[in-house]
Amino acid sequence: MMKKKYLYTPGPVPMYPQTLKIGAMQTPYFRNQWFADMLLECEQLLLGLLHAPQNSRVVFLTASGTAAMEAVVQNLLDAQQHAVVINGGGFGQRFVDLCRLHHKPCSEYPVADDNLRQTEQLSAHTDVDTLLINGHETTTGLLYDLEAVGQFCKNNRILHIVDAISMFVTDELDMQKQNIDALIISSHKGLALPPGLSMVVLTEKAIDRLQPVHQLYFDFADCLQNGQRGQTPFTPAVTIIMQLHQRLQQISDEGIAAHIAKAASVAGYFRKQIKKLPLRVYSTFMPNAMTALSPVDGCSARQLVADLDARYDIVVTPNGGALQDRVFRVAHMGNMDTAYMDILIDALHDYFDIPRQGQQ
Ligand SMILES: *Cc1c(COP(=O)(O)O)cnc(C)c1O
Repeated sequence: MMKKKYLYTPGPVPMYPQTLKIGAMQTPYFRNQWFADMLLECEQLLLGLLHAPQNSRVVFLTASGTAAMEAVVQNLLDAQQHAVVINGGGFGQRFVDLCRLHHKPCSEYPVADDNLRQTEQLSAHTDVDTLLINGHETTTGLLYDLEAVGQFCKNNRILHIVDAISMFVTDELDMQKQNIDALIISSHKGLALPPGLSMVVLTEKAIDRLQPVHQLYFDFADCLQNGQRGQTPFTPAVTIIMQLHQRLQQISDEGIAAHIAKAASVAGYFRKQIKKLPLRVYSTFMPNAMTALSPVDGCSARQLVADLDARYDIVVTPNGGALQDRVFRVAHMGNMDTAYMDILIDALHDYFDIPRQGQQ
């Protein structure tokens, strides 16, 4: 039996009891009307929660989020046209790498601690036909202003593709208001499901742009055709789709605004309660989903992450590469409340040997 750990990672995240209950069930057969009705309902619920324009569709992929990013690059980018990738960290870089790997011409727009509310500087990139962005760059905790970027894309007739994997359910997403043409989400972040399911939401504009792909498994045209009858071309992640169905109904019943507000309050509480600690927030434009932190007393972020696990059974997220000693991350996604954040807040005060007063 694995030891109980307190998770504050941006995937997997703490799951809800209802999700765990479905996970314990026998996987049912799926080439039938029961499954089709459930998948079609998932599609409609998702489109509603995302305020997707009419005639948008959802592609369900049995894969983690990176596969959905790769599939989007293959299915939506034209080998004869130019794309620009907003690169603010590891996930922006992943889009760049995917474009290069699949021979899709792209330039990158490097970003450091800028949410792109001012899009003037992007104007050097109006000769592109597609813009790729990670709405929340999870490696640095940077949330972009998707409304401003969407307006820029609209003004310049650029297809706006958003990886919203670490935003959905915790931070505002509105495909119409933010002028998003294609959007990627995944099961194991804000949705608080196990990893293994990704979804790509395509507007009519994006569907019109589908490219012929040399690809059997991630062919969007094939997925869309099967999706019309509530099926996927190949065996789907049946259990995760059952869990998704339950979650989407619940989020929809309670209102997504309530979920975003809850994430905002949990994140706000955490940031306020750690003010006395030698930690400083790494990003000026933080999402509700996560807080990226830098130790300021010369202590190594990597060591802190290891010590929290060894001494308190708390799992926060280390960074890789150049940031590994400077940054670690605390997620606020999934089944979390202020009491759950208190476990980490208390441990951090104990670790730094600083008394925690005025607890509220
Ligand atoms: C988690 C995440 C992904 C997907 O990563 P996988 O390891 O493939 O699940 C993609 N983009 C962003 C912004 C993410 O946070």
